[in-house]
Amino acid sequence: MKTLGPIPDGYVGIDGVLAVDGVPVTDLVERVGGTPLFVYSSELLKNRVGQLRAAMPQRLALHYAIKANSFSPILKLMSQLVDGFDIASGGELDMAGKAGVNSAMISFAGPGKQDWELESALSAGVTLNVESEAEVSRAMAIADRSGQTPRLAIRVNPDFDLKGSGMKMGGGAKPFGIDAERVPALARNILESDAEWRGFHIFAGSQALDAEAIAETQKQTLQLAARLAEEADVPVPHCNLGGGFGIPYFPGDEPLEIGLIGKRLALQFESLPPSLSDTQFCIELGRYLVGEAGVYLARVVDRKESHGHTFLVTDGGLHHQLAASGNFGTVVRRNYPAAIATRFAAPVEEEASIVGCLCTPLDRLADNAGFPRADVGDLIAIFCAGAYGASASPAAFLGQGPAKEILV
Ligand SMILES: *Cc1c(COP(=O)(O)O)cnc(C)c1O
Repeated sequence: MKTLGPIPDGYVGIDGVLAVDGVPVTDLVERVGGTPLFVYSSELLKNRVGQLRAAMPQRLALHYAIKANSFSPILKLMSQLVDGFDIASGGELDMAGKAGVNSAMISFAGPGKQDWELESALSAGVTLNVESEAEVSRAMAIADRSGQTPRLAIRVNPDFDLKGSGMKMGGGAKPFGIDAERVPALARNILESDAEWRGFHIFAGSQALDAEAIAETQKQTLQLAARLAEEADVPVPHCNLGGGFGIPYFPGDEPLEIGLIGKRLALQFESLPPSLSDTQFCIELGRYLVGEAGVYLARVVDRKESHGHTFLVTDGGLHHQLAASGNFGTVVRRNYPAAIATRFAAPVEEEASIVGCLCTPLDRLADNAGFPRADVGDLIAIFCAGAYGASASPAAFLGQGPAKEILV
């Protein structure tokens, strides 16, 4: 039998049924008219932001990277909770706009920005985290034609990476950012141009659970920003220190010690070099803010035996939960936290695999794990579904279409 990942804190059962913000999920499924369904908890989201604010130095602003979850009600709620939004496409700019996000709060990073994306970002007053010298030239030309002042920060490809991160985004040859040694010359050019110079964006990796490693990366990031500012002799109005805060998905994963990160960062802030003494700092987080606040629900439509194995076949699958199926950037497939939502208080009675309704062996949501005995009609829950679920899964695959979503 394989183990399951740890169910995040804050989920309880009411009369044996998993509840979100005090509402049994059976009621929520009825409210939206069926499964598959993503349920997001506003209580857990607010708590998470509150805990993070309490742990981090006051000087540090908090940004939300909307690629983790761009469901409009989430964006609306987050716009009341965070100080900024990070987008990575013109499509995300539209989504943020539709949710009523103030575009002055938005910065736009990401390689391969097309002219129409630069155009709409510039006219909305969004800060561009530029990813190449050529992108700066295109942005300047577009701004020139439309009589706008571009707000430009440089995304730096740092010469280090975040140790132990699930996805490395810095160190060595990368399509992201501009190599550190070329940054001073470009920063100088931007400062001397008609653009508004906004500073640096330095992102070194994602999904780290080691607080020491994150603290060390933040220290290196501050050192790099100071070095670049001094070499270029430019001020640093803003500096985005990246993110990388991970959440426990798998058996044995421990929650990140944010207290340690906050204390170390406060120490760093107390002894900043003159080049950074007036800088506004932020971090940008996706999954840490929303990941554990989401649950994916699917209904068991068949229960089958094959060669001594039990399969709970559901109406959901990898088309909504690519990451939980192990097919989104993982090397070895391990189980996410999962449960039978309609038998939440029941003891483990059998070993079963939860699979989706797609005809591919990749479509497995929980592999050979212990569950109470579930039958057709029961609801299964996959936790840690608030980030990179709906926004990062191939919903159109096999003509299935997107899942329903609700923010409670
Ligand atoms: C993806 C991404 C994020 C968010 O990553 P999480 O692991 O969800 O926190 C933040 N910043 C940049 C530049 C990214 O590409």
